[in-house]
Amino acid sequence: MQVELKNSTQKLCVIGDPVLHSKSPLIHNTMIEALGLDYIYLCQPVERGKAAQWLRCAALAGYAGFNATMPHKEALVSLMDELDEDARQYGAVNTVCIREGKYWGYNTDGRGFLAALSQAGIETAGKTVLVLGAGGAARAVAPKLCRTGDAARVVVANRTVEKAAALCSSSPDGRMQPADFRGETLCHLAGEADLIVNCTNLGMTGINRQFEGLSFLDALKSGAAVCDLIYSPAETVLLQKARAGGHKTLNGLGMLIWQAVFALEHFTGTKIDGAVVLPLVEAALEEACI
Ligand code: NAP
Repeated sequence: MQVELKNSTQKLCVIGDPVLHSKSPLIHNTMIEALGLDYIYLCQPVERGKAAQWLRCAALAGYAGFNATMPHKEALVSLMDELDEDARQYGAVNTVCIREGKYWGYNTDGRGFLAALSQAGIETAGKTVLVLGAGGAARAVAPKLCRTGDAARVVVANRTVEKAAALCSSSPDGRMQPADFRGETLCHLAGEADLIVNCTNLGMTGINRQFEGLSFLDALKSGAAVCDLIYSPAETVLLQKARAGGHKTLNGLGMLIWQAVFALEHFTGTKIDGAVVLPLVEAALEEACI
């Protein structure tokens, strides 16, 4: 990829620790090139605990904004001058715009997730959704399913049930309910679900852990769909078994790309047509063997 640098070119980046493996530079630079935007997107390692220091550096170095990944998303919340509703609700920032010396924090993960579902033709309005996990990803996905996706009921099942209960307590109308992660609980809940969303890291490349059993998938109704936020591997064992059982499946690549589309809209103030950039980004990731 050729990125043309001019005096006017504005800088963006992703910060994290580790971050050098991040797909964000490839995704953003592909969109920037396709849309002819005068930006360049870099990769900046920032150690845990150094987010405040980084903010001062970024403003001095003239960055227009940046994305944040582990371990900075939560730490950035209290350092922002302004927060959007999603960042405030999830307690995590993944996109920061620097405008006239002020820091604006956004979280585009939940919107990215809903856009990916919609693009895949998976409906959530009026449905019952079983969310597995109650970590950072689930905090973005579960409330968004209720608030914007208009799901009738979202059950959050987590190994540490107290974390599921804390997440569900943020829902004032009781549409989010906590559950434990035992096999028989999952079987019962799967039988009622129209959609299962895996927000745990079980099955992810590099994490040497799988679900203890997947028999809960046998309880799914025909027509129920299964989504895994993991995109590496492209098809987890969970998705393999769900697809073999005749269920529609979706991995996390669409969410990854859509959250970047919404972040780039914040950075540049440009409305981006996802239908135009998505195939280009997918092709770039495929070419890079991601
Ligand atoms: P996290 O905050 O560390 O949460 C991990 C979750 O997995 C927790 O709910 C944890 O349960 C559960 N878990 C871990 N080991 C388990 C085990 N052995 N048995 C049962 N549950 C277990 O991680 P995260 O940030 O939410 O990320 C979760 C996954 O989502 C990762 O694979 C990540 O790559 C993916 N993700 C994808 C996107 C995307 O754009 N596609 C965006 C964000 C995240 P406890 O609470 O009991 O520890």
